[in-house]
Amino acid sequence: MGVRTPGTEVAARAERIEEALRASAYDVREAVAHDDDVLLRVHDPRLVEHLRTVYDRWLASPIPGLVGQDRVVPYLMPTAGMLDGLPEREPVAVHAAAGRYCYDTMTLVGPGTWEAVRGAVDVTLTAVDVVVAGEPLAYALVRPPGHHVTKAAYGGSCYLNTAAVAAQALRDAGHARVAVVDLDAHHGNGTQAIFYDRADVHYGSLHVDPGAGWFPHYAGFGDERGRGRGVGANLNIALPEGTGDEHWLEGVDHLADAVSAFGASALVVSLGVDAAAADPESPLQITHEGYAAAGRRLAALGLPTVAVQEGGYHLETIGSLVEVTLHGLAAR
Ligand SMILES: [Zn+2]
Repeated sequence: MGVRTPGTEVAARAERIEEALRASAYDVREAVAHDDDVLLRVHDPRLVEHLRTVYDRWLASPIPGLVGQDRVVPYLMPTAGMLDGLPEREPVAVHAAAGRYCYDTMTLVGPGTWEAVRGAVDVTLTAVDVVVAGEPLAYALVRPPGHHVTKAAYGGSCYLNTAAVAAQALRDAGHARVAVVDLDAHHGNGTQAIFYDRADVHYGSLHVDPGAGWFPHYAGFGDERGRGRGVGANLNIALPEGTGDEHWLEGVDHLADAVSAFGASALVVSLGVDAAAADPESPLQITHEGYAAAGRRLAALGLPTVAVQEGGYHLETIGSLVEVTLHGLAAR
């Protein structure tokens, strides 16, 4: 909005979750470095290269000296309306390139952004390895979240789509059909977009209605069912503001039924806990018991499951919300 405001996607989020899980005696493992193969199967290589280099390019440009901005902030987005059919060229100026790959003004790049987002990919691929090796459930404790990142554009406090990486890695490991269930309060427009044309990955999401004025505003509507070969492999359940456990869990059941009907042999859970009543970022009213029940209902599918952390911004409860959900997911 043109003014500097405190961020809610802060390092303490991950620290609170880690504290809660260590206190509950989960088996905690360190991430193992992985190459870019899977990452480049879900993202445009130009997006990955942009994120890897843009901060250094920004610092080396005149912009920080001219305007005092030491974070990468887009100022010009080449929208469809601006280009009106012209080819989308690669701009020379880094301050123009910033809007070529980022679609909003709240997802800044600063020192350590690349290390964090690329590290999240390693964490996610390590969790996939654990499940492929035979464990029924692994959870990737990552930040920033990822589900708003499309093939070639980032935004929504997300930079690389870890849930999509997990789904693609499970496909590559031999699962013919993989399902993603997105419990975050907001629609995962990026995950939807990445798999929208594909028949091998089902995306299902339960979220506050974008038509009621909520992020991502332009996607997440019920009539988005996939495209081409992907028709039928996308399911959006948009909920009114104020939705509580009962109707939310009906939605979870609906998504679980869709996963069964799709015939998935592995599951990715985009585990956002910002639908919780106390969360400042959404108007949904889900309780700890609601999240625990959602975990149990998804566990009942009996599928090898990789859960990836998405949103959740209420620091006092984020750890316990994740813990109860994982406890539910582990009930088999
Ligand atoms: Zn969210």
